[in-house]
Amino acid sequence: MPEGPEVHRQADQIRDAIAGEVARHVYFGQPRLRAAGPALTGQRVLAVRAAGKAFLIEFEDARTVYVHLQLYGKWLVRKRGGPPKTSRTLRLQIDTDQGSAFLYSASEIAVLDPEEVAEHGYLSKLGPDLLAPETDLETVLARIRDPELGRRRLGNLYLDQGFLAGLGNYLRTEILHEARLHPDWRLCDLDGWESRRLAKATLALPQRSYETGGITNDLARAARLKAEGVKRRAYRWQAFARAGKPCYRCGAEIERCEDAGRRLYICYGCQE
Ligand SMILES: [Zn+2]
Repeated sequence: MPEGPEVHRQADQIRDAIAGEVARHVYFGQPRLRAAGPALTGQRVLAVRAAGKAFLIEFEDARTVYVHLQLYGKWLVRKRGGPPKTSRTLRLQIDTDQGSAFLYSASEIAVLDPEEVAEHGYLSKLGPDLLAPETDLETVLARIRDPELGRRRLGNLYLDQGFLAGLGNYLRTEILHEARLHPDWRLCDLDGWESRRLAKATLALPQRSYETGGITNDLARAARLKAEGVKRRAYRWQAFARAGKPCYRCGAEIERCEDAGRRLYICYGCQE
């Protein structure tokens, strides 16, 4: 499943293709939404936003198309030309004079009025989005210091969109490794320095991944490894998917474990 940085990059692509333009043709593949297509056709697309792992496409008449990709959904964006060749099921198509967006396979799609956006089951539970421009170090620190979350394990919390939207599995490994914290720690176990270290990593790594298209390793190190001919999947992360390899910081071997049902990579040398 894509994590915050991938969702935001995808939203950027869709925005480039259709935002600001009049939708010349809108098609919904699911029968329950079919009638919304003609109703949105002729409306201008005002904005395309990412919220956690969801996409919001706002139309001139104040309605918003909500899409959650779940495990199978996929967007394809075209600046010109017809629909891409694929055997996937088309769920949504929006054509403008500037470009088209095609959504395949995802089934969690809704057309929402403004009050429905505010009350939406997924959207209303999201924490602050890590890649929203208004989210800063103080925002993240406030979440980390929230007494209601104090007893939550980091391993669990760092998959929870209600804590901070945009987190996900590779980011969990990378943030905890960067902050030198063990996933069994709870927020209430952290002292002031550890809280700040965690907040900095929590803010910096999704941003780095967004800007670089997926790199959360130290950028100078990643560039050096790339120049040495190392493959992208081996240089993009500092700990994720590096089981059996030496930690870049302390040299101890990175180990893989299961945490909250997902794989997590940890260095017992520097994540006490
Ligand atoms: Zn280490």
